[in-house]
Amino acid sequence: DTIVSLEDVSKTFSNGTVALNGLDLDVQAGEFLSVLGPSGCGKSTALRIIAGLAEPSSGSVRWPQEQTNQREHELSFVFQEPTLMPWATVFENVWLPLRLARVSRASARDRVLEALEMVGLGQSADGYPRELSGGMKMRVSIARALVTRPNVLLMDEPFAALDEITRFKLNNDLLRIWKAFGLTVVFVTHSVFESVFLSERVAVMQSRPGCVTDQIEIDPSIV
Ligand code: ADP
Ligand code: ADP
Repeated sequence: DTIVSLEDVSKTFSNGTVALNGLDLDVQAGEFLSVLGPSGCGKSTALRIIAGLAEPSSGSVRWPQEQTNQREHELSFVFQEPTLMPWATVFENVWLPLRLARVSRASARDRVLEALEMVGLGQSADGYPRELSGGMKMRVSIARALVTRPNVLLMDEPFAALDEITRFKLNNDLLRIWKAFGLTVVFVTHSVFESVFLSERVAVMQSRPGCVTDQIEIDPSIV
């Protein structure tokens, strides 16, 4: 089943920059799709359009399941910067999306701790961001994205700033989380290795001004 479908999507910013030019992209429900392409080819713009954070200049974004069974999708977004609140504990950082939805600390407790367990930080709830390594900060950011129990997780080069070993561990953990949750993941990266490691299907975006995708099916036996 297609969960979201971008058809002939173009985006020109008000300064005249053409970020996307006729992009076609289907994301299947439950898949882990990597979107691979060089810097500046429009990957972030495409992801932000999927998230509803930016409007396409032309073309369509459709969520077919919402049209047929009125199913509302719950989206979460993970950026390259973990953007944690430094004055708040790890627990409070992960609680934030629920707090904004008026869920009290006590009622949020189990879900926050469950999300922290999921990323291997069950013991760090009372710590502060400054006490954490870059990889652990990213784990907190992922826990904050999971705490609302999304069915679609959008990730924009989340691990690009991390060292290779930390990144590899996070890649493995992310695959485990994806399988455990039955999530749909759209993962933007400019790393060929990362995209092939994570996904059986990689959408390759070409550098501007093309921005057309090829879809590569990865044979799992080569990874
Ligand atoms: P939109 O038309 O979709 O609202 P804008 O063109 O108004 O987007 O740009 C939004 C903001 O991003 C502006 O403040 C703009 O200056 C800034 N911006 C300009 N160039 C870039 C760029 N290359 N990358 C990121 N942000 C940019
Ligand atoms: P990628 O994620 O593949 O690196 P982006 O989607 O961030 O690419 O950017 C695509 C192109 O659009 C780039 O040339 C970038 O500088 C430009 N761009 C991105 N955001 C804005 C903006 N708000 N205003 C103007 N130009 C932008």
